[in-house]
Amino acid sequence: MSAYLDCSASTPMRPEAVDAMLPHLRDHWANPSGAHTLARAERKAIDEARDVMASVLGADASEIVFTGGGTESDNLAVLGVHDRVGGTLVASAVEHHAVLDPVLSRKGRLAPVDERGLVDLGALAALLEEIQVGGERVSLVSVMLANNEVGTVQELDRVAKVVRRHAPGALLHTDAVQAVQWLDVATLAASADLVSVSAHKFGGPKGVGALVVRAAAADHLAARTLGGGQERERRSGTQNVAGIVGMATAARLTVDDRAATVERVRVLRNRLADGLLEAVDDTIESGVITADADADGAGPPGGSPRRPDRAHKVAGTCHLCFEGVDSESLLYLLERAEVYASAASSCASGAAEPSHVLAAMGIPRSLAAGSLRLSLGWATTGDEVDAALAAVPPAVERLRLFS
Ligand code: PLP
Repeated sequence: MSAYLDCSASTPMRPEAVDAMLPHLRDHWANPSGAHTLARAERKAIDEARDVMASVLGADASEIVFTGGGTESDNLAVLGVHDRVGGTLVASAVEHHAVLDPVLSRKGRLAPVDERGLVDLGALAALLEEIQVGGERVSLVSVMLANNEVGTVQELDRVAKVVRRHAPGALLHTDAVQAVQWLDVATLAASADLVSVSAHKFGGPKGVGALVVRAAAADHLAARTLGGGQERERRSGTQNVAGIVGMATAARLTVDDRAATVERVRVLRNRLADGLLEAVDDTIESGVITADADADGAGPPGGSPRRPDRAHKVAGTCHLCFEGVDSESLLYLLERAEVYASAASSCASGAAEPSHVLAAMGIPRSLAAGSLRLSLGWATTGDEVDAALAAVPPAVERLRLFS
C-alpha cells in the first residue's frame, strides 16, 4: 500500500475539475480576448469561474485577478504594492518564500511568532510603531492564513486590528494558499485587502491561482506584467481558460464538502500524529502544546497526559520533529516504503537549509533537522495513514541506530 501524504505540496486533482477542463483544452481553443463568437464563449467561461471564485473568497467578481499560481499572486500583492506606493513592507517570520523573498528583496521587516507559529501581536504592534517612529511609512503587512509547514492558522482578525490601529495606512495581505481546503476563507480573510490562492492546493490544476484585490486596494497596486491589459490591467497575458475553469470547479466542490472533509481528515490526522508520538521516543509535534510543555508542568487530575491541543492547526497537517534523525535520510527510507512526504515546505524539500518556520518558532536546530511533514488532503484514506504508521517508526529507529 503506498501513501501519498504530501497534499500541502500538491493535492490530487478532483476528477470533475479534469472533466471541466478537457473541452477547453481539446475543443475550445479561441483566445478569450478576441471579438468573435468562439472567443466570447471562452470569455463567458472565465466570467462564470470568476463568479465562483468571488463567492468562495468572499469578494466581488471585479476584485478577482486570475494569476499563474500562488507564487505569482503573492509577488503581485507584495511587489505590486511596493512598486506603486513604496513604504516599508512587513511580513510574519513564517511566511512562504513567495512572500518572504519579495518582502526581504525590498528591505522589509519580519514580525516574530510564538512557539505555536502564531504572530506575536504585541511584537507586531511594536514593530509597526518602531518603523513609523523612524520616519518610514508601512505600506503592507502580509500574514498568511494557514502555514504550509506546520499548519498553524493565524488569528487574522486580531492581526488586522493591530494593523489598523498601529499602521492605519497599511494594506493587509494574506496568503491563503493553504487555507482554501480547510477554512472558510470568505469569512476568515474578510479583513484582508489582498488574498492569494492557488488551485493545486485544493484539487485544481497547477499553474493557476487568483489574487483578490479589494476595491479599496486597487489604486495601491501596480501590475507586474504589462501588455494586453487583461484582468482589468492588473495582470496582462492571455488567461489560462482551462486552468481557471478547473480551479473554479475544484473550489466549488471543496466548499460543498469542506465541513465533512475537515471532520474526516481531522480524525485521520489525529490518529497519525498520536500514533507516531506514542511509537517514537524523543519526538515533538511542531507547534503543538502538550501537558509536558505547559508552564506549570502539571497534567490533568489523575495524572494521565493531556491531549495535544491542535485547535490552531488546519485539519490536514501532521508535522513532527525526531531527535537524532536527518530528514533527508528519513524521506529516502519512507519513499522506499512507498510513503511520500516532505521535510519542510515542498519548495524547500531537498535543500539542506533548516526551515525558517521552525527556527522562528524556536525549535532547536537539532530537532528541526529531523522534521517530517505528513500532509493529508481530500482524497487521503485510512489505509494511507496505516501505511505511514507502519513505516515511520522503524525508519526512525534504523536511522538512530546508525547515527
Ligand atoms: N504560499 C504558500 C503558503 C504555499 O504553500 C505555496 C506552495 O507551496 C505557495 C504560496 C506557492 O504556490 P504555487 O505553488 O501555486 O506557486
